[in-house]
Parts: sequence; C-alpha cells; structure tokens
Amino acid sequence: MSDAPTFRRTRQREAIYNALSEAERPLNFEELLERARMHFPKIGERTVFRNVREMLDEHSLVRVYLPGQPARYVLPTGNHCPHFICRNCNNVFVLPEETPDILPGYASKIPPEFIPEGEEVIIYGYCRECPPE
Ligand SMILES: [Zn+2]
Repeated sequence: MSDAPTFRRTRQREAIYNALSEAERPLNFEELLERARMHFPKIGERTVFRNVREMLDEHSLVRVYLPGQPARYVLPTGNHCPHFICRNCNNVFVLPEETPDILPGYASKIPPEFIPEGEEVIIYGYCRECPPE
C-alpha cells in the first residue's frame, strides 16, 4: 500500500463525508463541492466527482433523484423517509419520520399492465429559512 495517494484519498473522502453529515439535508454536486472545500480547501471538482462515484459504488453515499431536481447526495440511513422541497429556496430536506408503505393500499387501483416497484413521498412547502409571505 503506497501511503501518499491513500492518505490523500482518505482526507478527501473525509471532507465529503463531513460536508454531508453537517449539512443535514441532501446536497447537489455544487453544494457538496463547496462544503467539502471548507474541510479540504484544495479539493478539486474532478476529485470530488471521482470520490462520489466510488462512494456510490460502495453504498457509503446515496444519490437522491426527485422530479425536476438535480441529483443530490446524502449519507445512507436505511430509512424510507419523505422528502420536503422548499418552494422558495428549492432545497431538499429529509423528514425524520418514516412514511407508511402506501403502495399496498393502491395496488387495486393500478391497472394490471403497470408493475409498481416503489413509491416516493414528496411534500412541498416552505423551509424554516423561507417562511411564506
Ligand atoms: Zn427554503
């Protein structure tokens, strides 16, 4: 094991991990890069990109896709929690309570030619930073 590259990679991953754990919400790539640089100022965009891809492969990072939104990244929790999208700042938050699995209740209403695989609960509104006028 050669020390230098491993050490660098570890510090860079730590920066990504810390950025996400402090954020308390899923971050898009630009936000992740900006916050990772608070921990490791010299970290480059391509390095963050490469590390994110590796962390996704290792399941130490989860990519969140929501309709009409850029991909975001979050640390895995294993819980199925609803997402909250702020109509003002467009930030995405993960709400703390798991939602009940609503799919079984809808099964009889889904036409037989469709094969449901999952569902996603998205709540829209205003975050604590953006009270409605
Ligand atoms: Zn907001």
